[in-house]
Amino acid sequence: MVTAQRKRLRKISEKPDLFDQLPDDLVLYILFKLSSSASCPSDFINILITCKRLKQLALDPLVLSKVGVKTFAVKAERWSDSAHQFLKQCVNAGNREALYTLGMIRFYCLQNRGSGASLMAKAAIKSHASALYSLAVIQFNGSGGSKNDKNLRAGVALCARAAVLGHIDALRELGHCLQDGYGVPQDIVQGRRFLVQANAKELALSLRSMLTWKPQQQHVDEQQNLHYACSVMGTAITGCPLLSDFGCNVPAREVHPVNEFLKEWFESRPGMLDHGLRLCSHSGCGRPETRPREFRRCSVCGTVNYCSRGCQALDWKLRHKVECVPMEQWQGVLEDGGDNGIGGMVEIEEGEDVALVE
Ligand SMILES: [Zn+2]
Ligand SMILES: [Zn+2]
Repeated sequence: MVTAQRKRLRKISEKPDLFDQLPDDLVLYILFKLSSSASCPSDFINILITCKRLKQLALDPLVLSKVGVKTFAVKAERWSDSAHQFLKQCVNAGNREALYTLGMIRFYCLQNRGSGASLMAKAAIKSHASALYSLAVIQFNGSGGSKNDKNLRAGVALCARAAVLGHIDALRELGHCLQDGYGVPQDIVQGRRFLVQANAKELALSLRSMLTWKPQQQHVDEQQNLHYACSVMGTAITGCPLLSDFGCNVPAREVHPVNEFLKEWFESRPGMLDHGLRLCSHSGCGRPETRPREFRRCSVCGTVNYCSRGCQALDWKLRHKVECVPMEQWQGVLEDGGDNGIGGMVEIEEGEDVALVE
């Protein structure tokens, strides 16, 4: 009797794991589906450290090609050879987000301009909107080169392609370029139209994120979220003063992880920026100057610098309009209205030039 029980127990314990019975193709398919929705790097790391088989399958190029942007949201202080290596593996698998992320890190942080720009260009060819926009910013500023390397027309063309793909900052940048006749023949009406479109898209995005926002009580349903969204629209209780054109306040939208990375990288390594080089003053950007006085500055107070008109417009609404103290000699410019279409935004001037960019 006892022997029979023992035999049965041994049989159960020797029964192979159900996971082992799953064919590789099926596990690969599940990982392929899951990898794009990982919410942080540790989600993916947990798969790698679970067991040998999962690690091997998770590093299959098919899975790596689909790994989502949040998997690359590594903290700047945790940057290591293995993080670099992992990004390279994803790049080799043709992952667009990895191409863009590693491109930005190499271009700005590791100062490997050629390789960084080339990776971003590969992401841009795969219709990565942020890569197109970042290349536009590089062209507008002549980043990595001299002032003579600025190519405003190329910047506008790249912005237009990113805007078509729905990139809000690119749409906003394009609106300013058209309004100012910057790199493109001036068309104030079309420019304003693009700015309104950018604001409307931003509003839609914010409302959508509020509707999917999950407060601590899990039972709060969508209707209550809608009520919350409406109360924010109506009374402007919290959040940043974005979209002031529409008379409402909404929370600032999520920043791309690589912008967070850049910001942390340079803020935690003060010596990284050569003397006189500055970071873009918009908190959601993180782009540094690649040569002295590359970025344009607020011509009213002269204390903030921006990589782009888009960053200036956003920072104006988020923060700078309450901080900007005009220098006396510029008060006339303010009274003239400046860029009155977007809540009193001020013109910026070329780093080296005194003249206003019109
Ligand atoms: Zn910027
Ligand atoms: Zn200012």
